[in-house]
Amino acid sequence: MKIGCPKEIKPQEFRVGLTPNAAHEAVVHGHEVMIETGAGIGAGFEDDAYVEAGARIVPDAETVYGEAEMIVKVKEPQPGERKLLRRGQILYTYLHLAADPELTRELLATGVTAIAYETVTGRGGGLPLLAPMSEVAGRLAPQTGSWALQKANGGSGVLMGGVPGVRPANVLVLGGGVVGTAAARVAVGMGASVTVLDLSVQRLSYLDDIFMGHLITQFSDKATLNDLLPSTDMVIGAVLIPGAATPKLLKREHLSLMRPGSVLVDVAVDQGGCFETSRPTTHQDPIYEVDGIIHYCVGNMPGAVARTATIALNNATMPLMLNLADKGWKRACAEDEHLLHGLNMHDGKLTYHAVGEALGIES
Ligand code: NAD
Repeated sequence: MKIGCPKEIKPQEFRVGLTPNAAHEAVVHGHEVMIETGAGIGAGFEDDAYVEAGARIVPDAETVYGEAEMIVKVKEPQPGERKLLRRGQILYTYLHLAADPELTRELLATGVTAIAYETVTGRGGGLPLLAPMSEVAGRLAPQTGSWALQKANGGSGVLMGGVPGVRPANVLVLGGGVVGTAAARVAVGMGASVTVLDLSVQRLSYLDDIFMGHLITQFSDKATLNDLLPSTDMVIGAVLIPGAATPKLLKREHLSLMRPGSVLVDVAVDQGGCFETSRPTTHQDPIYEVDGIIHYCVGNMPGAVARTATIALNNATMPLMLNLADKGWKRACAEDEHLLHGLNMHDGKLTYHAVGEALGIES
């Protein structure tokens, strides 16, 4: 199969759909891989690395879309890219259609066969093509939060690990799922004193087991939150209720309970956020202050570490990409119900019921 990887054109998107290693695997499987020139630069992959891997560098997106039978990307096609897609072509990328009716209608009009990373399911449950980005954002959260805690950034001037004779920062993680667990791991590693709140006692029990006394778990309720906030230096918001709006666990009045310069990192901001005072920010201008509390609310945190994020994403997407290329989408999806869950549209029709329901389009 001819596999094409265009350069991402969404602002501030530095990841790339194929690493040279993934391209090489496809070549070894007998496929022809073409990469738009400069596609990997943002993630630190030069054109030469792809050539060495056996791929062909092509001069523009038009050539990639024009020749490839499968397009492998990171973000949903931008308006300029949508018109380059065609019936019979496979599009393998993040799509998040339920949130974007215009994108959905324009993609349906192309007739493309779209497999969305975020709806592919895993054998052991969960969403294996989404998890690596949660893992990245989670690990990044204490890192960016500790930067925001520094005085020069408006923070309270507390060092995460403290020093001998001075207590470490108190970090409160709301939600102990993929993001929360990754955030807790790094915060513990930095020497902070970490508490995780979750509604799932099963999840808290799991965290208690794996951290072996290095963090505190508590059930998530309003009274516990009120108790903890006055001594908390950093709150990491990592709550998710699948298919529902993220609950605003921290209201504006909670901010006055915290010491000035304390930090909120709302990783869940991409789903609306779990702090009432959250609004999405960018990597260029990531923090702002409300009532003396520093907020970090970047919706695409993995973009800050595009190289790590690209490699992590490719580790998850490559095996299925090879399956699609080796067998064709029909056989690959027929033989793997988890991949089939990723099929969002084919030949102008929505094939993913939840998206159809969310947008009021027949599926
Ligand atoms: P997850 O489903 O693995 O975990 C969510 C956890 O929240 C679950 O353990 C659940 O029990 C818990 N929870 C639900 N309600 C709660 C409550 N009231 N109090 C405490 N805990 C509660 O989800 P995840 O993969 O960890 O993702 C978390 C959030 O991070 C999502 O909104 C996701 O979209 C977002 N995210 C953002 C970025 C970014 O760049 N900003 C990147 C990746 C993921």
